[in-house]
Amino acid sequence: MKNSVADRLIQNHDLTKPEFMELLDLSEDSGIREMLTREAVRLRKLYYGDKVYTRGLIEFTNYCKNNCYYCGIRRGNKDAVRYRLTKEEILDCCAQGYLLGFRTFVLQGGEDAYYTDEIMADLIREIKSRYPDCALTLSIGEKSYESYRLFREAGADRYLLRHETANSEHYARLHPAQMSLSARIQCLYDLKSLGYQVGAGFMVGSPGQTKECLADDLVFLKEFEPQMVGIGPFIPHHGTRYAKEKAGSVELTLFLLSVIRILLPQVLLPATTALGTLDPRGREKGLSAGANVVMPNLSPVTHRKQYDLYDNKICTGEEAAECRGCLERRVKSAGYRLVNERGDVSCKKEVDNGF
Ligand code: SAM
Repeated sequence: MKNSVADRLIQNHDLTKPEFMELLDLSEDSGIREMLTREAVRLRKLYYGDKVYTRGLIEFTNYCKNNCYYCGIRRGNKDAVRYRLTKEEILDCCAQGYLLGFRTFVLQGGEDAYYTDEIMADLIREIKSRYPDCALTLSIGEKSYESYRLFREAGADRYLLRHETANSEHYARLHPAQMSLSARIQCLYDLKSLGYQVGAGFMVGSPGQTKECLADDLVFLKEFEPQMVGIGPFIPHHGTRYAKEKAGSVELTLFLLSVIRILLPQVLLPATTALGTLDPRGREKGLSAGANVVMPNLSPVTHRKQYDLYDNKICTGEEAAECRGCLERRVKSAGYRLVNERGDVSCKKEVDNGF
């Protein structure tokens, strides 16, 4: 009865932690994989048709006060060549992105105290006044409730903060003692209470990750119900203590994309750059597994290589227009269509499945 746990996921859009562990044990079973992929694609088409949303990613600083052990831009990596974009440079990225059809901008960076709350709020106001038809997403790490409130009032719409792992022992293995899972989760709940569309997520195959950790992640995602979930394989960076660790599995990432689509049918789910780094057709495979978002890079090419989270990161050489063109072709080859829309979470009701 190996189908039964997969059937239960499809019927209930939920499982218990032991059931998730049972499902993860079946992640290499081709019958189960096919069944879940089929259902994930059905749901993704039901809510989003053949649309793939695009987010213009602006990696505006690689300075970071944190020292996450897996990350190439962590504070302790003295070999990282640091950069910051000026307000004008960031606005130039947005202008170029707008002309290319982007209607969401994502400001992502390390936790860089140079950008005070006032500087961030001013930047957010400026972007939102120039592009009122665009959504603005922040991904700048853990802040106080007050800071999140200020950014929200300034006009930020969405916030990406991967929880990284929902297992506190695993969290402690990946981060220094000053960082805690409870603080990260508190940030996610603060963001949600302030009305942001929130993205959580984790790396697949990060050092020390077990099936139990992944089951904890899935339980947390269902409980928290984020509007977006960012998952991608862990990839070692040569300047970290995990330089010699194995990268995460593309196959397991694809399996988890399908599981997450079924768990949270309307979720916005990117096919990540990390997936494309490990497999030349990784992002297309991600879309075919249930993903519906891609995040091409709008950062100036001069700094792309310096936003060096992991080794061999792709898309560091092309101009924004080339990046978008390349992704447009990839999306088409997967049977979908890249659209110039804000791409908010679908509010459509499911009507054809009896609920
Ligand atoms: N500072 C912000 C934060 O903490 O959310 C955003 C920037 S952070 C570098 C963005 C994401 O990169 C992290 O959430 C993490 O999951 C991912 N990342 C970092 N190092 C990675 C690695 N070695 N392999 C794959 N993903 C990695």
